[in-house]
Order: sequence, then C-alpha cells, then structure tokens
Amino acid sequence: MTIVRGRDLTDGFTESCDVVVVGSGAGGAVFARIAAEAGRDVIVLEEGGYYAPEEYGRFRPSESLARLGREGGMSAAIGLGDTPLIVVNMGRAVGGSSLWTGAVCFRIPDRVLDEWVREHGLTDLSPRHMESAFEEVERNLEVQEVPSAMISRSSALFAEGGRQMGVEFARLRRNTVGCDGCSRCTFGCPHGAKRSVDLSYLPQAREHGAVVYSDCLVERVVVERERAVGVRGRILGPPQGRPTHRFEVRAKLVVVACGTLHTPKLLATAGVGRASRQLGRNVTLHPGFRVTALFDEEVLGWRGAMQSITSDHFHEEGILLNSVYSAPSVLAAGMPGVGPTLARYARQMRHVAVFGGMVHDSAGGTIRSIPFSREPALFYRMDPRDKARGIRAIALLAEMAFLAGAREVMIPMFGAPPIRTMDDVRRFASSAPPGPRLECFSQHPLGSARMATDALRGVVSSRGETFELGGLVVADGSVVPSSLGVNSQVPVMAMATRIAHLAMEDWRRHAA
Ligand SMILES: Cc1cc2nc3c(=O)[nH]c(=O)nc-3n(C[C@H](O)[C@H](O)[C@H](O)COP(=O)(O)OP(=O)(O)OC[C@H]3O[C@@H](n4cnc5c(N)ncnc54)[C@H](O)[C@@H]3O)c2cc1C
Ligand code: SF4
Repeated sequence: MTIVRGRDLTDGFTESCDVVVVGSGAGGAVFARIAAEAGRDVIVLEEGGYYAPEEYGRFRPSESLARLGREGGMSAAIGLGDTPLIVVNMGRAVGGSSLWTGAVCFRIPDRVLDEWVREHGLTDLSPRHMESAFEEVERNLEVQEVPSAMISRSSALFAEGGRQMGVEFARLRRNTVGCDGCSRCTFGCPHGAKRSVDLSYLPQAREHGAVVYSDCLVERVVVERERAVGVRGRILGPPQGRPTHRFEVRAKLVVVACGTLHTPKLLATAGVGRASRQLGRNVTLHPGFRVTALFDEEVLGWRGAMQSITSDHFHEEGILLNSVYSAPSVLAAGMPGVGPTLARYARQMRHVAVFGGMVHDSAGGTIRSIPFSREPALFYRMDPRDKARGIRAIALLAEMAFLAGAREVMIPMFGAPPIRTMDDVRRFASSAPPGPRLECFSQHPLGSARMATDALRGVVSSRGETFELGGLVVADGSVVPSSLGVNSQVPVMAMATRIAHLAMEDWRRHAA
C-alpha cells in the first residue's frame, strides 16, 4: 500500500486531489476505497502512525495500547450524576479502531433500522435500502461464522451457564480468515488473520491509486465561498508525535471520518453545528460489563477466538451477551486485592473465564472541545433505565458463571469482594450500587454528528452531507442516529458504503 509515513518527512507539503478523507478507520477506509474505485484521485490523512501486522503483532499489550490506541487506552467518559466513569477505547493508527476489534460482525438489527425510518423519518435507511451495503461490507471483510473448534473453554462455560437458565447462544460471525485462536485480537492480530481495514479496504483503495499519509493531524477544514475546499494540519514528527511541519490538501470533496469523539471538533472549524446545536450531542456508548469467574477446572480461556458466541435472548431488556476475553496479563492486573492477595489470584489465570454483556443505551453523551487540548472531553449521563440494565446484565452473567460451576465470581464493582453464592448475586442485584462504583467500558462511541431529516435534529443528511456546508461529507460512527444494541464496525462501514456510493453517483451526474 502506498503509505507516506509523515514522521519520515523532513518538510511540509501541499497536495491537491478529488477527494480527501480525514481518518483511516472503519468509515474512512470504506469511503477511500469506493471513491478510488470510482476513478477519483484520493488522499487519506491519518493522525496515528502506520505499523504493518509484522510490527504490531510483536507489540506487548501495553505497547499496542501506546502505539495503536488513543491516550494509551486511557480515554474515558466522565460520568454525570449516578453514572460510572466509562473507559472508552479507540484506535489511533492507520486502520483506526478497526485494528482493535474482536472481529465481531453484526448487521444493524431490522428493529433499529425500522425505528430510524419510523421515528427519525430516515426512510432510505430501511432494511431493504441497507441490504446491498451490508452484503458489500461482509464480502470485503470475508465475514464468516466462527468454527466450533475456535470456541474457547471460557465461551463454552458461558454457553453452559446460559443453557441452564434456558438461554440459547449462537456462534458469532467474524471478519477473520485463517484465525488460529491466539486470542490477541484487541491488541492487533499478529497473523494478519483479522480483516481489519489496514489489510482489506486500504490496500484495495491503494490498488486504485489512493495514497495514505500517516502521522498527519488535520486541524481545520478550509472553507472558501461557503464550500469546503480542503484541509490543513501538521505532521506529527518524532520523537513523541510533536506537531512539526504544516501541510495542506485541496480537494473537491472533503470527507470527515475521525470517529465519534474527534469528528465534531473538525466540523466545528468549518462552522458546522451552529444552526442545530446538535454537533457533539446524542452520543451513545453501549456501556459494557464483564464478570470474571474462577473455576476448579483449567479453562485456559486464551485458547480459541477471543469472542465466539452471542445471545440476544435479553434484547427486549436492552442487553446483548457476547463472549469475551483479554490478554492474561491485562486480566491478571484486574484481579482483586493488592500484594500477596493479587499475586494469589494472578497465579490462577489458567482457571479464569470471562463473560460479557452490553447495554443498548439512550443518548446520554456530549462532547466538548477543551481549549489547547487535542483531546475533547466526553461527558455521559447514564439513564436510570440503562443503569438498571447494567446491573441486571452483571447479575445474569454472575448467575451463569455459578450455574456453569464457578467457585468464585468477581463482579465489576470497585472494592467489592469476590462473591461465592447465588445469594450474593441476589444481594448485589437488589443493593442498588451507586453508579460511580461500577466498572464499565465502551468500545462503540457513536452518534455525535447524527444523521437526521433536517438541521434542527441532526448534523448530516441521510446522504452524509453536512446540512450547513457544501463539499463536506461525514462517513464514520458519528453519523449513527441512535444506539444500535450490537457491535458497531459493520454498521459504521455499511453506512459509509452507502454514503460513498451516493457521493460517487452525484459526482458522475455532475461530470456528465
Ligand atoms: C477495543 C475495541 C474493540 C472493538 N471490537 C469490535 C468488534 O469486535 N466488533 C465491532 O463491530 N466493533 C468493534 N469495535 C468498534 C469499531 O472498531 C468501531 O465502531 C469503528 O472502528 C468506528 O469507525 P470510525 O470510522 O467511526 O472510527 P475509527 O475506526 O476509530 O477511525 C477514526 C480514525 O480517525 C483518526 N483521526 C481522528 N481525528 C483525526 C484528525 N483530526 N486528523 C487525522 N486523523 C484523525 C483516528 O486516529 C482514527 O484512526 C471495537 C472498538 C475497539 C476500540
Ligand atoms: S484470535 Fe489471534 S489469529 Fe484470530 S483474529 Fe484474533 S489475534 Fe488474529
């Protein structure tokens, strides 16, 4: 792939092209590929560095967090009111958060698309309209069901606990080819088995002439005569990603795909968001919870696909269950106690299983720029209904762990001792723990520049075009109109697919 590593450049640059795409993650890569295939001259600008799988595959988990992740994996949503602090993971590298996924692939459920048609008036996002976009993404990502041989013992115990409660699990679909089940997905797949966009869409874009620049932080959209005409920014040079030389890329179409947290900041430089005041609002997170369980048997939970089974049995309660695991070193660090107690738990990692669930939340998040800071602040007020869903999810996971034979269960609550009986689970569920005591994470921030029928309700039209400025399109997770209730990579990519094809059709029409 033609990658220009910004950090190797000794001077700034000025370029011009048909389409400039800011952000090389799930959404940006899709747009770049479709535009390049349509014959457009495409430049992709990415703030993060470029690493080949041979490089990131050798990183220790902490090194992956530092080099491929934003803020070393320490970004968080600040909880307002009775809300936990929510750790929000995001990628910052060529490939964006796509490098980080557990490879789980879901389409947007029809019930969510129907809600967008019915309640948001977005009639061209119906299941029928979205079908071809899902098919295209799944084909390019080579999505397939996890083979049963790849189901880890941790996931099998999860399914066993569920079965005893009458809850069915199904095998997940994932974008992997030749996965050997080493369970390292969320730190970058060392074998190139995960079809993240650095190995799928971006090389395909490059085959059609697209050029990707890494280490290039775009700071503003250039506007002339009430139209976006390019972007400006600075190269992030060594040793520590300090802004150095300036660059400018002029383009007939500017595509912003910086992800939910960073797209609002860039759009604001073009004056977008003044009319509706919706920019940076309506953020959903899919708050996630994990229960860690100790078994007498050896689980060796890292052997097999990191995520392999799912159950939507509780979808009417707003809960999705997905199997999950992480690097044993990361899990060990989160075990209870300090000193000798922690060491005792860490020695039992071979016996640990992890069960996960997430909440289909309401839009409680707002993003605000902080003067002189690259990173925006994300505030999140958890709806009491969603907090109750989180507690219910934790209790279900703990119950399944005991039913599967766990002898001790660690619930995600700061300072809580391990629990040993079903009575403990019931006590936890009825104790109404304060939100800030819950340990919560998010990997799916969505919705800060949402799609709507008009500028009063959102930031972009159903074609991804900003209502307030011509020549400016958004194609990433920020456009998602409401919580999905399922993992977001295929949804984001399918929406970007649709937006890109519509933009290219327009282009052809105007050129004719
Ligand atoms: C740990 C983790 C696990 C996940 N697992 C799954 C999973 O298994 N299944 C699933 O469906 N989804 C998963 N997701 C979610 C999925 O990866 C995201 O929903 C998706 O990648 C979002 O796409 P995006 O284009 O909005 O943003 P991103 O993919 O995050 O891309 C945005 C890119 O823009 C760059 N950028 C930002 N600002 C600028 C700027 N000013 N100038 C230049 N570049 C900029 C960023 O550095 C980043 O690379 C996971 C996410 C994480 C973090
Ligand atoms: S389990 Fe290992 S080989 Fe399979 S996708 Fe994840 S990191 Fe890659």
